[in-house]
Amino acid sequence: MSDLIPKLARRDESVRFGWCFSHGRLHHNPARCTAFWVPLAAEDEGAALVEKRRQFGDARFLDELTPEHQFQVLGR
Ligand SMILES: [Zn+2]
Repeated sequence: MSDLIPKLARRDESVRFGWCFSHGRLHHNPARCTAFWVPLAAEDEGAALVEKRRQFGDARFLDELTPEHQFQVLGR
């Protein structure tokens, strides 16, 4: 699965925050990260972390999600 991940990463420069499942942390301006991250709709870092927790709970890396949830994340 790991060689699929870069192809799936978003490249939208307008996204301010994203959770990076490759580095296991929040990114500001995540488009600069070439690994796998998902955009978080948030105005500031605190809100981004709340949104991350709402969607992904405590998971930092992709393999901490359930297989079903991983499939959802990779498919969008
Ligand atoms: Zn990253």
